[in-house]
Amino acid sequence: MAANKPKGQNSLALHKVIMVGSGGVGKSALTLQFMYDEFVEDYEPTKADSYRKKVVLDGEEVQIDILDTAGQEDYAAIRDNYFRSGEGFLCVFSITEMESFAATADFSECGAQIIDSRKRKKCCLFPTGEQILRVKEDENVPFLLVGNKSDLEDKRQVSVEEAKTRADQWNVNYVETSAKTRANVDKVFFDLMREIRARKMEDSKEKNGKKKRKSLAKRIRERCCIL
Ligand code: GDP
Ligand code: MG
Repeated sequence: MAANKPKGQNSLALHKVIMVGSGGVGKSALTLQFMYDEFVEDYEPTKADSYRKKVVLDGEEVQIDILDTAGQEDYAAIRDNYFRSGEGFLCVFSITEMESFAATADFSECGAQIIDSRKRKKCCLFPTGEQILRVKEDENVPFLLVGNKSDLEDKRQVSVEEAKTRADQWNVNYVETSAKTRANVDKVFFDLMREIRARKMEDSKEKNGKKKRKSLAKRIRERCCIL
């Protein structure tokens, strides 16, 4: 039985997470709090780095790989080089900065392109050719919207309601965190890993032919109301 096989570090499942969001929202602080249980207040803002840690996810030892982006790189290059390798995204904004919340929509646009490029999202044109309806081939791209700095309630600029509304539109979960107090820090990483794991199980089922994907034409017929 597979569960009884001795497992070396290399055979552990590896879940690849990418931190995205504007500068200053706390991507590095969240990553370092998760990795090392400490709040680092003055992490170099231009530094992107990746981290790996062994964790127990629902009784199973797995590894998490976290890529903490820093927004300095050329966006297209990031997309090509490592966004493709990511399996799930924590899209972070600061509840104290409205601009950072607005910027998450840009990321979602960019995320959509990444997903497009992986053929996980297809576009179909309405007959007029003017309106494009995105058809999500895969509704379960592992993605969480994260409102960080929840300890700074008195400086809040983004209400829970508006963040939730956006998350609902994207069909993702919204969680508020504090890298300072550690509130919900484990939760966002573990919830995302669960989404990634579910997604991989789904993919492997499809590969094994247990569940065949419907043809694109069929999905488009089902989802688009052709005018
Ligand atoms: P990044 O550019 O997204 O990586 O942001 P950083 O992790 O470098 O954080 C930017 C600033 O916000 C730093 O001064 C952090 O100390 C501060 N910060 C990050 N997360 C929190 C948080 O949850 N609460 C508070 N009060 N400050 C935070
Ligand atoms: Mg940073």
